[in-house]
Amino acid sequence: MLHEAGRRMTRDLAITRVSTHHAGIPYAYDGPRHAVGGQGWTTLDMLLVRIETAGGLVGWGEAFGHGGIPATKAALDTLVAPWLLGRDASQIGAITDGLSKAMHLFGRNGPLTYAIAGVDIALWDMAGKRAGLPLHDLLGGARRRTLPVYASLLRYGDPARTARNAAAARDEGYSAVKLHEIDPAGVLAAREALGPDAVLMDDVNCPWTVAEALEQARLLRPAALHWLEEPVWPPEDVAGLARVRAAGAMTAAGENIGTAAGFAALFEAGAADVAQPSVAKIGITETLRVLALAAAAGVRVVPHCAYFGPGYLASLHLVATMAEAPLERLWVALEASPFEAWLEAPGGVASLPPGPGLGCDPDPSILDRYRRSPTGETRSQA
Ligand SMILES: [Mg+2]
Repeated sequence: MLHEAGRRMTRDLAITRVSTHHAGIPYAYDGPRHAVGGQGWTTLDMLLVRIETAGGLVGWGEAFGHGGIPATKAALDTLVAPWLLGRDASQIGAITDGLSKAMHLFGRNGPLTYAIAGVDIALWDMAGKRAGLPLHDLLGGARRRTLPVYASLLRYGDPARTARNAAAARDEGYSAVKLHEIDPAGVLAAREALGPDAVLMDDVNCPWTVAEALEQARLLRPAALHWLEEPVWPPEDVAGLARVRAAGAMTAAGENIGTAAGFAALFEAGAADVAQPSVAKIGITETLRVLALAAAAGVRVVPHCAYFGPGYLASLHLVATMAEAPLERLWVALEASPFEAWLEAPGGVASLPPGPGLGCDPDPSILDRYRRSPTGETRSQA
């Protein structure tokens, strides 16, 4: 009898349908629409992955992102989704490691890795729903029910505007402000507007040689940054980043690292004060490995989170299991959200949704209204 029940359960957990949903949502922001990754951000785009089993269980994930979404969506629709059909959705580690191994020749970082991350998040969401528990309970329990959020400002490229918006974010209640200014003038203007006590970071997104980074870090010294994020090109140059850190800058990096092994190299080089795994790029399973490595190396983790979908919710649950990390949130106002109030952080404070799994499914009417490209569908033959 037990054997029969077990077989039936396995049948119910077989993945029968995978769909991919690309939404782009207009947003308000007091600055120019810069090109990021070669394309202007006229909307904030998200790629959602929906996985369904024979027994009707559903999980939602998110795969990075922005202008790269068509490439990630193609990786999902043509390679990853067909591989998933018929697999037992409860075997998350076997699925994500199996996918990574089966597809490794197509790249260990980039669209395919993001696609696998989206699947991994969806399977964790489903595991929580199946257990009737929120994701953070599956990850060891929430140490905090409300989380401080730091405001991550887009690039203004204009010191006066940068200073004005940094002060506005601080006045909304955010615990810290992160800029994306390359020119030290904008950072110094923000520091002046915020005063000496505010927590201020700057993320420059890998522009400089090591020599340039050392010089820029020197110019930035009066800004007393809490961290300087990704000063060095290429992001794989962990020895170069370690030199910037040895010269006295607090460094943060990790959103461009595709594997736990890459984080091990970052820690081994002594390159980062803060590690920033990005859940919609590497998934929850791999992030847990990074957390273990970081704990052993004594490195602080503050996840990268430029997300407004399941990637944001997964980051929220992960951060809640940590003792002190803040949650990153892009400081923009979306015209609408498929995830209702759970993506808002009024007063710079985020709350955990109470439902099982990620705690919140997307509103299909909003996904419909803001659909940017045809929904991808991969199904088992009935
Ligand atoms: Mg960053």
